[in-house]
Parts: sequence; structure tokens; C-alpha cells
Amino acid sequence: MNNPLYDTMFAPHAGQGTPFLYLPEGGVISHADFIRRAAQLAHALSKFGVKTGDRVAVQVEKCPDMLALYAACAQLGAIFLPLNTAYTGTELAYFVGDSGAALLVGAPARAQELNAVAQDAGAAFATLDAAGGTLSDCADEQGDSFETVARSEDDLAAFLYTSGTTGRSKGAMLSQKNLISNAATLTNLWQFTKEDVLLHGLPIFHTHGLFVATNVMLMAGGAMVFMPKLDIDQLIAWMPRATALMGVPTFYTRLLDDARFDRDLTAGMRLFISGSAPLLADAHVAFEERTGHRILERYGMTETNMSTSNPYEGERRAGTVGLPLPDVELRVADADGVELPRGETGVVEVRGANVFQGYWNMPEKTAEDMRADGFFITGDLGVQDEAGYVTIVGRGKDLIISGGYNIYPKELELLLDAQDGVLESAVIGVPHADMGEVPLAVLVPLPGAQIDLDAVKAAAGAALARFKQPREYRVIDELPRNTMGKVQKVALRAEFGG
Ligand code: ATP
Ligand code: MG
Repeated sequence: MNNPLYDTMFAPHAGQGTPFLYLPEGGVISHADFIRRAAQLAHALSKFGVKTGDRVAVQVEKCPDMLALYAACAQLGAIFLPLNTAYTGTELAYFVGDSGAALLVGAPARAQELNAVAQDAGAAFATLDAAGGTLSDCADEQGDSFETVARSEDDLAAFLYTSGTTGRSKGAMLSQKNLISNAATLTNLWQFTKEDVLLHGLPIFHTHGLFVATNVMLMAGGAMVFMPKLDIDQLIAWMPRATALMGVPTFYTRLLDDARFDRDLTAGMRLFISGSAPLLADAHVAFEERTGHRILERYGMTETNMSTSNPYEGERRAGTVGLPLPDVELRVADADGVELPRGETGVVEVRGANVFQGYWNMPEKTAEDMRADGFFITGDLGVQDEAGYVTIVGRGKDLIISGGYNIYPKELELLLDAQDGVLESAVIGVPHADMGEVPLAVLVPLPGAQIDLDAVKAAAGAALARFKQPREYRVIDELPRNTMGKVQKVALRAEFGG
């Protein structure tokens, strides 16, 4: 193969008139259209000075051209570096500078500000959004075929910055092989084919919407309903024409809040997948009661793509993230990387073709997180049962150590979530002179409900050892979450003295 990523994901679609992107605002982009547009954009990138091996930083709203830029980078052998559209100019300056990008592509509406960011970092600048921009103007004038640049599967295909939930975002370097191997595994496991129509309401600057969703659909040859952002009305309107949905847990809780979402509406759907943040077991159960479908939960991260999944056929266990993928080795280990017996909680480590090539510009961090035998230390805490199902119990950084004892916030959160009037909860560690840290519980009431804190405390007192019982409680309207539905415990700690 000449360029494994381009040749597997994109080249087979050249000349195919089959639908690839249904645009909810109107219109369809065929596979052939998409491939031609990508070639034009590859020419345009070259005109803006991008060469093979260069990084292309892209902060562009979700639109077909943004996705075609990924294909263009693959064809040109450039490294695609999508960035969260919420980042400010100051934040962008860090990413563009840190990555050494040759080109920054940003919103026309912010051209002046972003041009300055690019200039400071020594990068060229171009604009693009759904309505156009200098990059798309240039692409419009180019030929619609481009000679694919030869690459090997070990060459880098993308830099993807982590979500920054536990600290500063880190640039994960992903090779062509990382992407291809995971897409192939997931396509098979989840049985995606060219008959599938995926509802795509996720952002495409994150591994979930970009690599899990898009790469799987490119590999399967199916179509996507390409929504600019999560829109429950659009999801509901398109569901009768679709076969599958990939979403973060918020998608599912919001669908469940809508009375139009029922068994009839989902009759033609074959698969609902959830990930990026924990799906509450209650939501899983409520979803099955409402629709008859069991949500398939899977687990992964920017650095590893996907590592575990509940089975397609076989038991999907609520509250678990399923089994290690067929070509991913997973162990729950102690601090020295020694595998623990099943049933014991430890750090989740994974090894396989899915594991990234290291953090850009952070050799010490990479060395710290990579074991000599090739296992990557995910930083997540988990437990595996006898059958192999993995439950994520939280992040290592959120573990509370009180008087020398480990407290797993998830254990407390599950108990608190089950109390009357409680919608959800988050438990954080706050400093304590004597114990080092003690747990503080943040509770969110169900709409219209009043939480009886005395009853909650009594329930915690009855169920939990004394050292695990929250010392303090706070009631707030809503947990802070990012666009991927991840609870921002750093923000809670900042607010409540952690
Ligand atoms: P950072 O590494 O910058 O702190 P982040 O870890 O949130 O940010 P991502 O790579 O986007 O960045 O997220 C991966 C993390 O999301 C995993 O390590 C895990 O903690 C969490 N996660 C993903 N899927 C699930 C799931 N199904 N259940 C529970 N947690 C999940
Ligand atoms: Mg992380």
C-alpha cells in the first residue's frame, strides 16, 4: 500500500455516488463528492505552504469541509490537528505554538485575532467555516484529483489534544496504524456495513466523533446524518431514517427527557452506543424500558482510541464498559504494573496497535506513562470481573486518600445517586488537617425535588464505613460538564476547596 490511511479510508470511495453525508439543513454529499473536495483541499493546503509531515491546526466549526480537511491531510501526508471550537485565542496560542503547526485554519469571523496567533507562532493562516473562507476559495479553484503522497503505517496521521479534564491538554501523537487498526476492530465488532446510517451529533475535534464515528463509517462505507451540533429535534426527526447513534451520556439522558422518544421512533435503529463519560446504570435501564434497546457502552481515550466494548451479541452489562477489544490487551494492575487478581481495583493498563506514539513535546510524561513491556498506564481506575467485564471506578487523580485509606468516589456517588430526590452527584476530596483529605459530596436534585440531607446522611452512615462517609454536602443545580459530558472535578475542587 502506498498510503495505508488514505488507501483504506478514502480511496475506495472515489467515484461512488452513494450518500456519505446527509445535511439536516438540506442536501447530500456523496462519497465521490467528498473525495473530490478532499483532493481540492489537499491542493489548497499545498498552496498555503503545507508539506508532507507538517501539522495543520484546525479550529473550524463542524461542517463537511472540516471533515474533508482530515481526508486532505491524509492524502497529502500532513498531520491533522483538530482543536476544540470553544478555545479562546490565548488557548489557541498554546496549541499552535506547542504543536509547531505550519498552518492554522480558523473561523473567518475571528480572522484578525487568529491571524495574530498564527503569526506569533510562525504559522501561516487561512480561514474556513460552513459558509467558506480563504481556504475554501482557494480549494474551489483547484483540480479535483490529487496524487496521494506515499506514507507508511508508522507515520503520524494526527495530533489530538486530550480533553484537559485532569490538567493541561496533552498532544497525543497517533500513527496511521493506530487509527486503521481500531477502526477495523470496531467496524467488525459493531457490525457496521454500507447499509448503515449513523446519526452524527458529536463534535469532530474529539476522538469520539472523529475517529470512532467517522473512521468506522468510512471503513464500512455507510452514511452519516451530519448535524452541526447536538440537536434533539434533529435527532428525533432523522431517527426513522437511521440505523445507529453514537453519543455521550448526555445524548441519552436528553432523549429520555423527551416524550417523542419511544419504541416506535427507535424501531428501525439497530444500535445505540455510549462513551466518553460514564453512563449511569439508571439511564441504561430506563432506556431499555422505554425503547427495548440496550445501550452498548464502550471505553477509550484520546491516547488509545477504544480499548473496551460491551458485546454486540451477548450480554451488555449496565454500569460496565464491557470486555477488552479482541486485539487489545488490558490489565488491572498495582502501582508497579503487576496484574491484580480479578475483582480487585487498580489502574487500567492497555497494550495493542491502538496505543499512541507518545505525547508531543513531553518525553518525560510519555516515559512515565509507558511501561517497559509496552503497556500504557491510562490513569483510570478499574476492576475486572471473572467474566472479563471492566468497570471504570474513576480516575487515579480523583482517588481520595483519607488517613491512609483509599476512597473511590464512584462507590459513594452510586449510593448518593440512588437516594430520594437526587438526580446525580460528584464526590471530591478536600484537604483535612488530620486525615490529609476527606470526601465532600456535591448533590444535584431531581427537577422540582428537595433533597432531605439528613436522610442522605443517614443512608451514607448505614451503608459506608465511617472513613468513607462524606464530611460535607453541597447542593447545586447542575454539575459542571465539558462538551463531551465529562464532569469537571477540577472546577468543583476549585469551588469547594479541594
Ligand atoms: P485529560 O487527559 O486531558 O485530563 P480526558 O482524559 O478527559 O482529559 P479524553 O481522552 O477525551 O480526555 O477522555 C478519556 C477519558 O474519558 C478516559 O480516560 C476515561 O476517564 C473517560 N471515559 C471514556 N469513556 C468512558 C466510559 N464509558 N466510562 C467512564 N469513563 C469514560
Ligand atoms: Mg486523559
